[in-house]
Amino acid sequence: MSWQPNMHSSLFINIYNFITTHADINSIDALIKGYKLYLEHIEANKLEQVLSLTRAWTLIRFVESEVLCITPCVKCGGEFLVHSLDIHSNHICGLCNIPSRAGKTKKAAAESRLH
Ligand SMILES: [Zn+2]
Repeated sequence: MSWQPNMHSSLFINIYNFITTHADINSIDALIKGYKLYLEHIEANKLEQVLSLTRAWTLIRFVESEVLCITPCVKCGGEFLVHSLDIHSNHICGLCNIPSRAGKTKKAAAESRLH
C-alpha cells in the first residue's frame, strides 16, 4: 500500500473501530456510519476522496480475517493498518516517514536561515 491510500484506510478503520466499540451496532450500519464520517472528515480537511465504500468494506473484511491489522506508530502514536505478515514493532507511519524531499527541503531552508 502506498502512503496516501494507507492514510485514508487507517483513518477509516479508526473511525469504524471507534463506532463498533462505542455503539451496539452491526457491521453494515457501522460501515455506512463510518464511511459517512470518513467523507465528512476529508471534506472538512479538503482532502481528496481516496477510499470507496466498496474498498472500505473490503478493508473491514481484511481486518476481520486478520490479513491486515492495526499497529501504533512509534513516533506519533497514531494507529495504522499494516499487513499482518509485516513486522510491526517499531512501526513508523507514512505521515512520520514521508519519502519525499519535502521534509529535507524544509530542514535545509530552516538551517540556511540560521546562517
Ligand atoms: Zn506516525
